[in-house]
Amino acid sequence: MDADINVNRSPSTPQNIAVIGASGSIGSSALDVIASSNGRLRASILAVHRSTRQLIQLAQRFQPDAVVVSDPTADMSPLEELPKGIEILVGEEALNEAVRRPEIDVVLLAIVGVAGLRSTWSALDAGKTVALANKEALVAGGALITDLLNTKGGKLYPVDSEHSAIFQCLLSRRVDARTPRVCGDDLKRIILTASGGPFRTWSLDQLKRATVQDALKHPTWKMGAKITVDSATTMNKALEIIEARWLFDVDSDKISVVVHPQSIVHSMVEFIDGAVLAQLSPPDMRLPIQFALEETTRTACPTRQFDWTRAMQLEFLPPDFERFPAMKLGFEVAKVGGSAGVVLNAANEIAVDAFMNRRISFDSITKLCRRALDGHNYDPSPTLTDIFKLDAWTRKETEKWISQ
Ligand code: MG
Repeated sequence: MDADINVNRSPSTPQNIAVIGASGSIGSSALDVIASSNGRLRASILAVHRSTRQLIQLAQRFQPDAVVVSDPTADMSPLEELPKGIEILVGEEALNEAVRRPEIDVVLLAIVGVAGLRSTWSALDAGKTVALANKEALVAGGALITDLLNTKGGKLYPVDSEHSAIFQCLLSRRVDARTPRVCGDDLKRIILTASGGPFRTWSLDQLKRATVQDALKHPTWKMGAKITVDSATTMNKALEIIEARWLFDVDSDKISVVVHPQSIVHSMVEFIDGAVLAQLSPPDMRLPIQFALEETTRTACPTRQFDWTRAMQLEFLPPDFERFPAMKLGFEVAKVGGSAGVVLNAANEIAVDAFMNRRISFDSITKLCRRALDGHNYDPSPTLTDIFKLDAWTRKETEKWISQ
């Protein structure tokens, strides 16, 4: 492990963490990590979108300096019970200012959707260390985020389990201390593992009739609803292919996917001599979250550990692009870059929402994404403003197609 990237801090000065998306699945795992860190980590800001009731409970337990409610239309009445001395901030602008505060050491970005791009941008613009669970920020704005990292001196650590695994496999040979980027031409490829989701063994015909209930039954991971549906379509893997392209700065032809139903090997890295390094751990997000919050220092983790006295089987299978065409879109978008990522992501967010509301069939999700990609005016280097314009355009168009 690189000595220069470990933050040497005394146990008496905790690392101040801004937990953005505190009420979600990643947020609560992160708070669990913080609670069991023996005071090394401290939740200094807790931010939610609308879940003010949950926020109060968390604030009472974690005693942050400030809480943020990013949606000003949320029910603010529960905030009357907020413990004295905790500052209340409201609105998206307030959130984007909060992540820049000088006392914040690490910003955990755990909001779902492209909304995470602005906060990621703001934190990196202020030179902060970002633990990124919001893959959409890189999918939509990968080139811009990479530029910011180069110019503003911030750091970026992946939280997504696959990307954390790749990062851990690459750590010993990382040249750039601030980013997980791969420097060196001895890398043959990055191998992302995919659980295959609940429909891994379903036929094309069955997939057409898949219901919301079916899609929400993930075999190995317990996650939020949107990402669980993304796992079922394999769009989650598509977004992760794009995320890996930017995070590690590798061409799409150096990324491959292998289906691994047990979700124990979280991803692998293959070198030109044929050596393959993998990272294994039980499917529990607390490990990659902790690794990012601790800035790559390894400490005891509240996760279950393997019992190596018991037999265990690991399987690896080739991905089926015919039944799961979403992954093809992932490779395509990772290759062309530019505006394709934001369009794919926005179309998918709208389509998943429509599927969850039983307005479209399961197999329409990927078809709508294909249509949005084909129908948009490709821009090779969109600005942040262009990205949000395209995001809005795609949402409107996709909604129109769904309503027709
Ligand atoms: Mg993942």
